Amino acid sequence: MRIILLGPAGSGKGTQADLIMETFGFPKISTGDLLRQAVQQGTELGKKVSEVMKVGNLVEDEIVLKLVEERIQLPDCRQGYVLDGFPRNLNQALLLEKMVKESQEIVFEIEATEEEILKRLAGRRVCLQCQAVYNINNDNNKTDNSYRCNNCGSKLVIREDDKPEVIRERYKIYIRNIKPLIDYYAGKGVLFQIDGQKPVEEVFRAIKSIIEKKLSNYSVSSGRR
Ligand code: ADP
Ligand code: AMP
Repeated sequence: MRIILLGPAGSGKGTQADLIMETFGFPKISTGDLLRQAVQQGTELGKKVSEVMKVGNLVEDEIVLKLVEERIQLPDCRQGYVLDGFPRNLNQALLLEKMVKESQEIVFEIEATEEEILKRLAGRRVCLQCQAVYNINNDNNKTDNSYRCNNCGSKLVIREDDKPEVIRERYKIYIRNIKPLIDYYAGKGVLFQIDGQKPVEEVFRAIKSIIEKKLSNYSVSSGRR
């Protein structure tokens, strides 16, 4: 089972991917997290992509594809995985299609307005050690006054690309690329549109029921019950 989360930065992809992981056990693969780790560790890859990421542009397709390819080969992805932030354009979707074998696929487009995203990302705080995400405003996953990560105790930071001008640039890039992707997955009959403006639990309820339905159809048709 391959679950793909599409949506602009701030629509809640990472938050929902974590909930899917907790509920169904499918690991989250966030290309943004993998790239940020490389930057944080100062690897060759990190040095190469750091400037591009800072201004909100997309990293080269081949680079992200390689990260995904390496990650989905690990044993924990055997039953399924969640792709968060990949694919970002039609070319990446076509490259992914060529690379993967399993056919079960669900694609969620999590929709949210630019206004909502700007508000959310102004309050986003992240842990660069364990990739946990918080918000200083929302009740859900609210940071406490220590601004430390509940998981690992590291100091929470504002992402370099969560500045209003960079958020607007990322949103523009998203809008430019999303239509062909949506058409592609709608054409395959695997696309579900989700209202991402709702509270976290409500968004997850919608996603969860679709995954459950797909999983039960799958076990019936493949005799896996
Ligand atoms: P993305 O992965 O799409 O960039 P995140 O999951 O990091 O988005 O969410 C962006 C910010 O908005 C985070 O601070 C998160 O806590 C918060 N958030 C996520 N989903 C919602 C929601 N449905 N309502 C309000 N805030 C949310
Ligand atoms: P995200 O954490 O998904 O918001 O991604 C942060 C940044 O990482 C993006 O603005 C891009 O610079 C880069 N990035 C993440 N995923 C991709 C991708 N699939 N293709 C190209 N660049 C990506």
